[in-house]
Amino acid sequence: MSLSERISRIKPSPTLAMNAKALSMRAAGIDVISFGVGEPDFDTPEHIREEAVRAMEEGFTRYTAVGGIPELKDAIIEKFRRDNNLNYERDEVMVSCGGKHVLYNLAQALLNPGDEVIIPAPYWVSYPPIVILAGADPVIVGTAETEDFKLSPELLDTAITPRTKLLILNSPSNPTGTVYTQSELEALAEVVLKHDIWVISDEIYEKLIFDDRPFYGIAQVSEEVKSRTFVINGVSKTYAMTGWRIGYAAGAREMIAGMTKIQSQSTSNPNSIAQKAAVAALNGPQDSIQAMIEAFDQRRKHLLQRLNAMTGVRCNAPGGAFYAFPNFSYYFNTKAQGTSINGSTELCEYLLDEARVALVPGIAFGDDNFIRFSYATGLETINKGLDRIEGALGKLV
Ligand SMILES: *Cc1c(COP(=O)(O)O)cnc(C)c1O
Repeated sequence: MSLSERISRIKPSPTLAMNAKALSMRAAGIDVISFGVGEPDFDTPEHIREEAVRAMEEGFTRYTAVGGIPELKDAIIEKFRRDNNLNYERDEVMVSCGGKHVLYNLAQALLNPGDEVIIPAPYWVSYPPIVILAGADPVIVGTAETEDFKLSPELLDTAITPRTKLLILNSPSNPTGTVYTQSELEALAEVVLKHDIWVISDEIYEKLIFDDRPFYGIAQVSEEVKSRTFVINGVSKTYAMTGWRIGYAAGAREMIAGMTKIQSQSTSNPNSIAQKAAVAALNGPQDSIQAMIEAFDQRRKHLLQRLNAMTGVRCNAPGGAFYAFPNFSYYFNTKAQGTSINGSTELCEYLLDEARVALVPGIAFGDDNFIRFSYATGLETINKGLDRIEGALGKLV
């Protein structure tokens, strides 16, 4: 059997693969601690679940408008106005089956073979494959740990060629937790306008920011920048709704129409019940977010302090999301029982086998010196996992 050439160019999501491996070890009775999960460990708030039950009971179980029900589009428009001071019309927003699906639709609607897409590394694992599946070429631009993994205007300017069509930004970032400031985004926006390229601003972690820092998105810089930017967001992370599969985009109406056309010929509308629940999430009480931030913040501080206390490990303080991205390169070129550890993949495999701790190797995010820790898990589990990691690292020579 020969699969399409397209398929051979991409790999399955390494974060989901790591999670699957940890789950299958658990199913086999092995007590695995996972720092691999990319989703909040909280329940979807009750008022949102109740709205879904109501939708079902009332028979809201049929096809809807492809790009989302008007009620949800209006809730999204209101959210952008309220939180980001951005104004959109109904034909400038659309709803898809998760933020990932929005990105997929957008890449299909925007990119041609030969187009280059600038992706700062460390990056979210799905950006390069989504670009490749659209026939375009990802251009990975490495950023420095000492610059808190931020893309500078100089790095961006140097990476742009006549083929560059798009820049993908993600703030707060998965995997680093990096949050861009207003002035940093203004400086990047200048380069974007100078070269007339498009921007995707993945703002899925917008609400998960620590130390009361304000969120700022690049589309807020000016009307001109907004017209070149597609804002991606969704309910998955903010409202602990990863399984509901609702994400949304805002941007140029021609592109939204193109994305809706693709959706109409592939998945059709997002789940009708989940759309009603998303309306309740966006329009309802927002206090569950604060409770979630407080729990994440406590874990963040604790994890950071313990990681930085480990021999050879250093970790920048993540400003948002629920990941830490420490540098573990001190342990490369070591050995344990004859196996040599030469990079993040081997180190993570060693830690899974020896310490029964699941992590995601930094190479999956475009930088082999690091390992991603998700702290979407309780403090007690975090401590137990770190104890095990310390023990296993101590055996490396
Ligand atoms: C989780 C995530 C998404 C989208 O998640 P969905 O569940 O598909 O809405 C998008 N971007 C980043 C960086 C993420 O971590």
